[in-house]
Amino acid sequence: MRNLPDPNIVARIAQILRRACRLLFITGAGISADSGLPTYRGIGGLYNNQLTADQVPIEIALSGAMLAANPAITWRYLHQIEETCRGAQFNDAHAIIAQWQEQFEVWVLSQNIDGFHRAAGSCNLIEIHGDIHDLFCTRCAYEASVPDYAGLTLPPACPRCHALVRPRVVLFGETLPPGAIVQLYQELDRGFDLVFSIGTTSVFPYIAGPVMQASQMGVPTVEINPANTNVTDFVDYKLTAGAAVSLRAIREAYLKASTRQRSRGVGASRPEAIVVPDPAKAEALDSRQPPKISRALASSSSISRSASVQSWASLPPVKLRFSAL
Ligand SMILES: [Zn+2]
Repeated sequence: MRNLPDPNIVARIAQILRRACRLLFITGAGISADSGLPTYRGIGGLYNNQLTADQVPIEIALSGAMLAANPAITWRYLHQIEETCRGAQFNDAHAIIAQWQEQFEVWVLSQNIDGFHRAAGSCNLIEIHGDIHDLFCTRCAYEASVPDYAGLTLPPACPRCHALVRPRVVLFGETLPPGAIVQLYQELDRGFDLVFSIGTTSVFPYIAGPVMQASQMGVPTVEINPANTNVTDFVDYKLTAGAAVSLRAIREAYLKASTRQRSRGVGASRPEAIVVPDPAKAEALDSRQPPKISRALASSSSISRSASVQSWASLPPVKLRFSAL
């Protein structure tokens, strides 16, 4: 995992960045690996190809059905996951994405429930799987936000009505928050100039779909992941180094390219918006819109978190279905 990102690929990504306005970062557990958090699957994964101590796969232990049938089991693993991120901090990868808000319009679609993107300062943030620190009662209106799970009696009971309390996260088999989906579709409709997939195996359709659709629309795509994933065959650029070291390298190459350009007396980060020879062309460039990464399923009213996607490679992107596959 000590490998460095390929400088040629980094340079090409930096060149694309210099012309980009809107960036989409799709992130998974791998981006938090540099903060010391384990991934669930993949290299160093918590539950790599093995059953939990309760002899069920982690996707079953962390399912809505298991929470209803045996909340103690689900809470055991929620607690375990929360414990792994307790006391950890966001890393350079989260920080660089947040800093780029000064140069670009940045959107982050994260599956992570560790809250690191928010802590790093990302504003346009779609936390599609919720936040593990927000709790609510399954019966009454009680809700609370906790810094961690230390001191919780498991499974926790509501202080008002004694029913089960649970975190506001999307368990396997549960429906995604409708507001987050609407927001995601809106932003995909507006289009992006560059799409990053970082540290996710992309097993969920709503995570793989935007990358594959971007690829199909000719929008440049970058994957940062040591392992091959469901979107690897579709991306333009693949970096196999860690998230933080890769983004640091891209930032450096981007700054270097911008400085070089400035020293030649040409505008900073978006040369084509400044170096325009004639007014007609200027108008054409001003009206240039980023290609749209369209939604395949505007009508989906409920999208469920399902781990049953077998192979995206066999599914044509235009027919992506975000509901149960
Ligand atoms: Zn209650």
